[in-house]
Amino acid sequence: MLEVGIRVVRGPDWKWGPQDDGEGHVGTVVELGRPGSATSPDKTVVVQWDSGAKTNYRVGYQGAYDLRVVDNAPIGVKHPNIICDGCKRQGIAGMRWKCTRCEDYDLCTICYMADVHDVNHVFQRFETANSVGEEMPPRIDGAKIQLRGIFVGAKVMRGPDWDWGNQDGGEGKTGRVIDIRGWDNESGRSVANVTWTGSGFTNVYRLGHKGKVDLKYVQASFGGFYYRDHLPVLGK
Ligand SMILES: [Zn+2]
Ligand SMILES: [Zn+2]
Repeated sequence: MLEVGIRVVRGPDWKWGPQDDGEGHVGTVVELGRPGSATSPDKTVVVQWDSGAKTNYRVGYQGAYDLRVVDNAPIGVKHPNIICDGCKRQGIAGMRWKCTRCEDYDLCTICYMADVHDVNHVFQRFETANSVGEEMPPRIDGAKIQLRGIFVGAKVMRGPDWDWGNQDGGEGKTGRVIDIRGWDNESGRSVANVTWTGSGFTNVYRLGHKGKVDLKYVQASFGGFYYRDHLPVLGK
């Protein structure tokens, strides 16, 4: 699974210091490497960090993996017939987590990472609806990392793919994220609803939808936690 729009955090072979603004900060895959390309070779991807920084990373290049998938809902991954037993939402968006100890018990990523259900129970992770389930260690033993970036409450300004004139009130003006949501049935958690401080105008902007990123943060906000070793390594 390697597609533009996937939301990522630093991974096992990371050696790039604070390019991501520190562990737990989120970015979006915006470009895939191509065989023969000098600047962006095969088995690399370009990541647009929520901070606005942009660099390429190894996703199998020379056997190294710099990134993990923190959310694949923005590329449209879903499990249409599965209900999350945490938030009761029908049709899990993104990765699915299934308890191996309880009968027919599933969680979405948000609920799993928020410690819904017994943290001693072992879960299987289904990366997509076609994936084979992979068994995770129990969450009680996991290293828990704070997720940071463009989430509710973040202070943002126009970013790299901005294409919306002066909706923000002009270059350099800031706004607040009031919601992260999906775009129709196409993608989940892929756009941010922003109210611009100067004008009070509110609209949604791409945050992974179709691999585009309209925003960057001036001040990141807290997006919950994740278990580092439970996230899939991108490109593996
Ligand atoms: Zn849920
Ligand atoms: Zn259970």
